[in-house]
Amino acid sequence: MTFTIRATVFQTPTPTRFEHREDVVISVADGAIVEIVDAATFAGTPDVTLPDNTVLVPGCIDLHIHAPQWPQLGTGYDVPLDQWLFEYTFPTEAKCADTEYARAVWDDMVPALLANGTTTAVYYGSIHLDATTELARSCIEHGQRAWVGRTAMDHPDGTPEYYRDTSAAQALANSRASIDEITALDDPRGLVAPIITPRFIPACTDELLTGLGELAAETGHLTQTHCSENDWEHGYVIDRHGVSDTHALDGFGLLRESTVLAHGCMLSDDDFTTIASRGAGVAHCPLSNVYFGDAVFPTRRALSTGVKVGLGTDIAGGPSPSLLAQAARAVDVSRHLENGVDQSLTADERGVDDSRIDATTAFYLATLGGADVLGAPLGLLEAGRRFDAVAISLDDVDNVPGNDTAERRFEKLVRLAGRRDITHVWVDGVQVSGGSS
Ligand SMILES: [Zn+2]
Repeated sequence: MTFTIRATVFQTPTPTRFEHREDVVISVADGAIVEIVDAATFAGTPDVTLPDNTVLVPGCIDLHIHAPQWPQLGTGYDVPLDQWLFEYTFPTEAKCADTEYARAVWDDMVPALLANGTTTAVYYGSIHLDATTELARSCIEHGQRAWVGRTAMDHPDGTPEYYRDTSAAQALANSRASIDEITALDDPRGLVAPIITPRFIPACTDELLTGLGELAAETGHLTQTHCSENDWEHGYVIDRHGVSDTHALDGFGLLRESTVLAHGCMLSDDDFTTIASRGAGVAHCPLSNVYFGDAVFPTRRALSTGVKVGLGTDIAGGPSPSLLAQAARAVDVSRHLENGVDQSLTADERGVDDSRIDATTAFYLATLGGADVLGAPLGLLEAGRRFDAVAISLDDVDNVPGNDTAERRFEKLVRLAGRRDITHVWVDGVQVSGGSS
């Protein structure tokens, strides 16, 4: 399938560069961008022409979503992480034993995320094989690009009896079966891939972590887990293994190229160096970290040490399904880190110098940063990459139109745009959300 679209493009080819391409025509064939030319030089009539004051941006890449937590989004932020899991989250996830219930959740969530501009999602499923395969099937049917992982968790202390794999051997067998089932799905556009998913070290025995590391080496599939999320989780791993989360995961063979490490609020410079050397990346979840992270993830320091960084909603740890909202919050929390938050301290001792990021860096994290973590040809509208794109109307965002430069309109988009402003969403060259053109 081939089509052409005429639009003005806003995007970020690096963490510090905003690119504005006014009035271009993008040619797409079989889901890939073939070329981008100035509209004035294009012969013919484009298949789609976006209205004035609507811009085209790369689709958002959400690196961290717990799909079975969709029903609890926006609730239960009154207790710390370890309590939150047992009181609210594990009981909610356990309901996915009923595959029909789970499928109804997926069929509500996936279109909602697409409507929010999330063209690629990296999911934790539940522990259940059938529900997780249905999640992958739902993504294919709704047209969302996704990595889908069956959540593996067998530790008798870190999980409740009613919601855990019954042994390491059973967990490994189910994780392998999940890979096989997802790989075997009818997916002509190649939208969905499995991802090996130990929940986090506190929920997994050493035997399971070792086996999943071996499974990753054997199959070459991506891996994801949580890493140094907060004081409790970070401290637990040091108590159990005598080293940081990063080094423990590395020892289990779970720190690999394109491994997605969620949160990382407590990572040290030594951890950053190790993560960068392995080619792994961090899913920065700024809103979730406000509630559960105990500290602000130092985005700028991570990028400066060569760590790949993208963004995650951490549904339902973060109470918003919008990755654009996460981008805005990533800027906000970086200012808290730089300025500090305790007014009883002097200005000199209150914050961490050189920590702030701006809207350009935040949008980069939401798009190309996430693509780089995954090693996928996404996140930027340029020839050779897949056409995953979102059209955003600036009618409401750009108050008093005509007064601002492209740079300032882009800044408004990052801080103010949301689902209501998104008019069209394409994944792999196919429109999957929004109105007709
Ligand atoms: Zn998480």
